[in-house]
Amino acid sequence: MPSVWLPHPVTGVLFDSPVPAGTGWPGDPADSSTPVARTADQVRRYADGALAVATLDARISVCRACPRLVEWRETVAAQGKRASFAGQPYWGRPGPGFGDPDAEVLVVGLAPAANGTNRTGRMFTGDRSGDWLYAALYRAGYASQPTSVAAGDGLELRGIRIVAAVRCAPPANKPTPMERDTCGHWLDRDLALAEPRLRSMLALGSIAWDAALGTARRSGWTVPRPKPRFGHGAEAVLVTAAGREVRLVGSYHVSQQNTFTGKLTEPMLDAVLARL
Ligand code: SF4
Repeated sequence: MPSVWLPHPVTGVLFDSPVPAGTGWPGDPADSSTPVARTADQVRRYADGALAVATLDARISVCRACPRLVEWRETVAAQGKRASFAGQPYWGRPGPGFGDPDAEVLVVGLAPAANGTNRTGRMFTGDRSGDWLYAALYRAGYASQPTSVAAGDGLELRGIRIVAAVRCAPPANKPTPMERDTCGHWLDRDLALAEPRLRSMLALGSIAWDAALGTARRSGWTVPRPKPRFGHGAEAVLVTAAGREVRLVGSYHVSQQNTFTGKLTEPMLDAVLARL
């Protein structure tokens, strides 16, 4: 793969693209000693062994367990950039969780966008979906600023953490069932680490809704039967293994497909955030 050293949009520091772990990219949670998962079994073991959110994020950010997604994310990062970002380095790695490690609320997305998180290394950062989400989180008091341009831009989240069903950008935004299952081990660990404080979860789109229900079930939580149906504003009460209730709220995804067409409006997004 050719080297393409280019300046980071905030710091101006030169980076190869994709970015090797521990080379100074803002917010990079990994370093050269972080173990790299190359199989589904290793994902499960490294996830289960992550005793803190920072460790989990580091391990996620170097994962190589899904060959198709590794090839796609790195090919986009090295040779397939959008023309408007051609002068920037691309992260080209899985998107680790972003936000408050002691959050009481988890936002579950679908997967990174090829020219969004896969470029910036931060969830929902650098694309129109993120513009919508972070503006709403700012209005709701969760975000320190209404924009999320690039890692290192000063954005901080309070009380909320953003994770995803799948952490690598998939071709056509469609991960396979096997890729979802493999990446689900990381999500399970995110849920386990958040569980003692968790009050609610927001699922962005039906795949994230299913992922949230799936991880809750695998974690031994009680999930209503029949399976709660996804919809904008849908709610389900999940009960943790310790017997505590956690509210799951559904929202249409903040993709341009929904926001440009008016299927999802700002008041609609604000209303679901208010219920968290
Ligand atoms: Fe690893 Fe998840 Fe990316 Fe697969 S999708 S390579 S499990 S981070």
